[in-house]
Amino acid sequence: MRSFPKVDLHRHLEGSIRIETFLDIAQKENVSLPSYDLEGFRRLIQVTHDQPDFLNFLNKFKIFRGFYPNRQAIERIAYEGVEDAARDNIKYLELRYSPTHFACGQRFPEDEVIRWVQGALEQAMEDHDIEVVPILTISRDYGIELAEHTVNLAARYAGKYFFGLDLAGDEIHHSARPFQRLFERAKDAGMGLTLHAGEAGGAENVIEAVKSLGCDRIGHGIKAAQSEEAMDILAEYDVMLEICPTSNIHTGVVTSLEDHPLKVLYHRGIPVSLNTDDPMISNITLTDEYVNAATKMGFSDEDLKQLNRMALEHCFHPDKAELKRKLNDNWN
Ligand SMILES: [Zn+2]
Repeated sequence: MRSFPKVDLHRHLEGSIRIETFLDIAQKENVSLPSYDLEGFRRLIQVTHDQPDFLNFLNKFKIFRGFYPNRQAIERIAYEGVEDAARDNIKYLELRYSPTHFACGQRFPEDEVIRWVQGALEQAMEDHDIEVVPILTISRDYGIELAEHTVNLAARYAGKYFFGLDLAGDEIHHSARPFQRLFERAKDAGMGLTLHAGEAGGAENVIEAVKSLGCDRIGHGIKAAQSEEAMDILAEYDVMLEICPTSNIHTGVVTSLEDHPLKVLYHRGIPVSLNTDDPMISNITLTDEYVNAATKMGFSDEDLKQLNRMALEHCFHPDKAELKRKLNDNWN
C-alpha cells in the first residue's frame, strides 16, 4: 500500500508536524513545551491513548498554537510536512493550514507567514515527486472578524498561494452560517470551497453546507449516511465528502472502522475520497488508511483506484485536466 500512488485532499499542516521537530525546535530556540521527553510529549499531543472525543481532539491543537518561534521553524515544518507525504507516495496533496495558527504566538504578520509557508512548499515540491496545492483554513473558534481579515488577505493571493477555503473548528458550538459571506468572497476570488461539517454535528449541517454555503466539498460529512435527503443532495450536487476514517474514530463520531459509513456512501454513488486529516495527532499515514480500507472496510484494489480518480475529479488544482493527464495513468 505504501507503493500505491495516492491523493490526499484533506490534511492539516498543523496536524502533520513531526514530534521530533517540536522537541528539536524547542531545545534550539528555547521555547517552552509541556514536556521535553519524546514519549511524554507524544502522550500529550497524540490522541491514541485518549478516550475518543471530538473536543479533546480539537484541544490537542491548543497545546502548540503559540509554539512557532521564527521563520525558520515555520519553513521547516511546512517542508517536512510535504516530505513526509512524498515518502508515503502521495502524488498530489491539498495541504490546508491556518496562517493565524502559525502567526499568533509571535504576532507575525499573516501575509509574511503565508509567503514563508509557500516558499517551503515550493522547495519541497522541487525536491520530491509530489504536487501540493495549499488551502486556506479559517476556524470557527477564532471568530468571524479574524476569519474575515484572513480571507481578505488570502483572496488577494487566490490562484497563487491559495486555491481553496476551508472552515474548521468546533461544529457543535459554532454555526457555519455567520461565515457565509466569507465563503461568497472566496468563491468570487476563484477559490474552491470546503467545510468541516456533519462530523460531530448532524446531517442538517451537510445540507446547509451544500444548499446555503455552496460548498464544492465537505470535510467528513459522514452523518449524511444517516439521512436519505442529505445523500440525495450530495449526489445531485456532486459534492465530494473528504473521508478520514481513523480521525473519525479518534473524535468518537464513529465507533469502529468496520462500522464506518464510507462504504455505504461510496456504493450510494456519492463522490468520496480517502484522506488522513492529522497524521501526527492520529499517529497514522495515508498508507495506514489504505490498509484499513482494504482489510476492515471491504475495499478492493479497483475501489481504491476509483477513490483516487474521484479525488482528482473534485480537486482544487487550477489545471485539473493537466493534473489528470499526469496522474491518472497511476490508476489505469
Ligand atoms: Zn480536518
